[in-house]
Amino acid sequence: MRVLISGACGRMGQEVVKTIVNDTDHLPVGAFDRINSDHDILKELGLEGEECLVFDDLEKAIKKVKPDVIVDFTSPEVVMDNIEIGLHNRVHMIVGTTGITEVDMEKIEKWAEEYQRNILVVPNFAIGAVLLMKFAARAARFLDQVEIIELHHDQKIDAPSGTALKTADLINENIRKQSSGSKKVDEIEKLAGVRGGVKNGINIHSVRLPGLVAHQEVIFGGEGQSLTLRHDSYDRKSFMPGVRLALEKIATIDGFVYGLEKIMDES
Ligand code: NAD
Repeated sequence: MRVLISGACGRMGQEVVKTIVNDTDHLPVGAFDRINSDHDILKELGLEGEECLVFDDLEKAIKKVKPDVIVDFTSPEVVMDNIEIGLHNRVHMIVGTTGITEVDMEKIEKWAEEYQRNILVVPNFAIGAVLLMKFAARAARFLDQVEIIELHHDQKIDAPSGTALKTADLINENIRKQSSGSKKVDEIEKLAGVRGGVKNGINIHSVRLPGLVAHQEVIFGGEGQSLTLRHDSYDRKSFMPGVRLALEKIATIDGFVYGLEKIMDES
């Protein structure tokens, strides 16, 4: 598989380049980023391999290096343009960039159909985080009072995280409204936003601090008990097994797929 890495000079992009360069099944053939254009990204990272130039124009890069797939870790502001360019040029896409809205997802689905290419959008490539979402969905069948705390490094642009939103959706799909006995009160927020944002009736709290990578806690409360599920990505390497799995599956999925769990084989 010939792979073009979009956002290759960023934290995630660099990790993807390092992963692919050591992979016998995949070849990094080009990169796209607004910084370091015309540089060989492999040389920049002290890696060995055939030249892999950074382009500052995605369409030009595609025409020049003819990739089979683009892996995108850029920014919510540019990701939709990248997806349209990629699919329009008949290249499969693996998208890790977060902050894509539900309206945008509908557009992506239409483009995948129109241009007959596959696109996998994954808000979290860490397999442990996907398992946490699954366990949270299961717990929601028994405990219906829940809040989500997501914690990320201070350079993250979007809040809450895509994972937190997806977790809230999964919990909502699985929750069986039952009386847990606790009495809801009319809350008074003395500090605006202190109870977090609310998705599907579930409060989500976003913490941004240096030193953090990507972490999430889902806390269920019941009468006289609580259940805390927590996942920590301490290093961006934690996302790479998921990226590798996505590269293995991208040619055989059908059109638009959302979430790593859809391609994880549990047998
Ligand atoms: P980063 O800022 O370190 O890297 C982003 C790169 O994209 C930079 O090199 C930047 O120059 C480039 N870029 C931004 N705008 C561009 C534009 N208009 N044209 C060309 N290049 C552009 O960020 P990061 O920490 O690597 O994260 C990137 C994205 O991946 C974010 O949306 C983040 O939330 C997401 N992320 C997803 C996962 C996951 O598992 N899905 C994990 C970590 C991060």
